[in-house]
Amino acid sequence: MLRQYELVDIVKSYDPNADEDALNRAYVFAMKKHGAQLRTSGDPYYSHPVEVAGILTRFKLDSTSIIAGLLHDTVEDTNTSVEEIRKLFGEQVAQIVDGLTKLAMIEQKSANNKQAENFRKLLLAMSEDIRVLLIKLADRLHNMRTLHYCAADKRARIAKETLDIYAPLAERIGMQEVKTELEEIAFRELHKEAYESIQARLNFLREQGSDVVPKIISRLQKDMKENGIKAEVSGREKSPYSIWRKMQQKNASFEQLSDIIAFRIIVDDVASCYQSLGIVHSKYHMVPRRFKDYISTPKPNGYKSIHTGVIGPNNTRIEIQIRTHEMHEVNEKGVAAHWAYKQGEKVVGKNFRWIRELLEILEQASNPEEFLENTKLEMYNDQVFCFTPKGDLIGLPVNSTPVDFAYAVHSSVGDTCVGAKINGEIRPLRTVLQNGDQVEILTSKAQHPSPEWDRFVVTGKAKAAIRRYVRAHKRDQFITLGEQLLERTFKGENLEFSEKGIVNVLPNFEAESIDDIYAKVGEGLISAWDVLKAVYPAYKQSKIGKVVKSFIGKSVRKDKSKGEPLKIKGLIPGMAVHFAGCCHPLPGDRIVGIVTTGKGVAVHTIDCKLLEKFADEPERWLDISWGDAAEDGVHTGRIKLMLSNEPGALADLSNLIARNNGNISNLNIVNRTISYFELLLDVEVKDLKHLTEIIAALKASKVVSYVSRSMQ
Ligand code: MN
Repeated sequence: MLRQYELVDIVKSYDPNADEDALNRAYVFAMKKHGAQLRTSGDPYYSHPVEVAGILTRFKLDSTSIIAGLLHDTVEDTNTSVEEIRKLFGEQVAQIVDGLTKLAMIEQKSANNKQAENFRKLLLAMSEDIRVLLIKLADRLHNMRTLHYCAADKRARIAKETLDIYAPLAERIGMQEVKTELEEIAFRELHKEAYESIQARLNFLREQGSDVVPKIISRLQKDMKENGIKAEVSGREKSPYSIWRKMQQKNASFEQLSDIIAFRIIVDDVASCYQSLGIVHSKYHMVPRRFKDYISTPKPNGYKSIHTGVIGPNNTRIEIQIRTHEMHEVNEKGVAAHWAYKQGEKVVGKNFRWIRELLEILEQASNPEEFLENTKLEMYNDQVFCFTPKGDLIGLPVNSTPVDFAYAVHSSVGDTCVGAKINGEIRPLRTVLQNGDQVEILTSKAQHPSPEWDRFVVTGKAKAAIRRYVRAHKRDQFITLGEQLLERTFKGENLEFSEKGIVNVLPNFEAESIDDIYAKVGEGLISAWDVLKAVYPAYKQSKIGKVVKSFIGKSVRKDKSKGEPLKIKGLIPGMAVHFAGCCHPLPGDRIVGIVTTGKGVAVHTIDCKLLEKFADEPERWLDISWGDAAEDGVHTGRIKLMLSNEPGALADLSNLIARNNGNISNLNIVNRTISYFELLLDVEVKDLKHLTEIIAALKASKVVSYVSRSMQ
């Protein structure tokens, strides 16, 4: 384990301005906080953060990174708070440690690695400061180096996770060295036999060709020198894991030295790269299809090099990689190399396509501190990643809500969602999801997509499903309404209402089915009277009929007003709400909300008889009240009345209500005798006061013998 002064000396060797005092304090702080905690290896726990800090010095990272590395497990594993770290070590260190703690929590949530790709993206999205990611990788590297101390089942899981997630992440940010070491350890763990047989074969080939490699190196060196190129030539053995992967991809065994050794020619500038390539190709035979120019077309992670295969000296097939020193540094160390370069005030090329924005900041920043401080990972900032309760990851566009999440899981889940638990707490369906949220969707078979959702969902899948449903469902509603209106109109005239009669007049209305007619009537495109007159062309319209017709016209309008916002306080935002059909609450009534399983919140008046049914379920009661803007909406009050059965009575009634600014939205004849109609009227009013005024006016009318508000 690195001693305190050793660590400080290393940091100072590449960064003379490093905050020595803070480094010393962080070392001691980590040691004290982890106290007597032990690693599985039996080492004191604090040896782990110290080693992680040591790995970070390999990349010549700034003292903020080294300090955060020393403290990276203190919040998660000891009684330390982020506040405490902020007070002692400043804002930046605190933020990085906080980021690392959150990552550790996310890791625990992910029960499986089925969606490794999404998980990698999540880690990238959550590592707002690139140093979080660098420390995370160093942390993982040290844990892998000490993997053999863990229990066997745990080892396999960690190794697989490393191969699936962390090695590709290291590659993604160009840290080849870290990637290779992570892969090698994981490979040894997961495929012990393959690893050992490859090692044995490597040893054999190495002994056989022990003199060949130095010979080839010196020949290549001579070739370069003769042509005036200043070059470093080396031979590098490929790693067992990369050999194994190649064997698997090509379904082949490895036989020759060329399969295990890559020769490298490292030169000063790009021009020398192509000159070297020309020399190699003119001296040795090219092996077809082995030439790749990653200088003109770098790999997505910024990797640059020329690869070629030739029949080299000694008639041995060899692979040669040609690159500049700077390319080499970046290929091996990735983003960390950029930082080190900047610190040494060397010029940095735009080697990383994917972190171009990052480099622009780098070039604008006057010092390395500022570079790291301003470096936010811009990747995937248009996406959020959330967990299902089973630990699966779902990737969504930013601003997604639980409804989007539900539809992403399955359209049947979306169609039936009634609520959501986010990180264990019930939250509104319109809540905007954050990275790493665990989302549990509550469903009910009785639920249907709500047009309300359309206002806050962002995914195309959710939008399409909701609109499809609403369209289909609206037609259903129109059909039901149209049939009722027709039946009422026909019966009101004492005419027979039969499907057969209506089928006969389908062509009159360009309708293909009886449902088409109902839907058209329900939607108000044609009136029930048009249909009646088509079926009974000789029928003369009665006076009552005219009035009923006017009601029918209005009833369509009511349907359209349904989508207006409800002005009620105390509701759960995003939850569907409707007024109970039993008591027809109005602004001015004291009201209470009942959470129903299927349809969201039902609003009842406080004295509604139906409430007794919920007396034993207090958890379903919501304390709600009318909002300030309640009167802006249209509300329906229900009136029960007895009307004289005499010519013009219905017209008088209708006029009276209209004069009081009420609008009859529905009329139901409950009972009809020789002298009376018993009616239930639904009247659109502003509020309770308005309804009371109308009732008072009706009481004064000579055609009305009895009137009261109906609460059933
Ligand atoms: Mn750790």
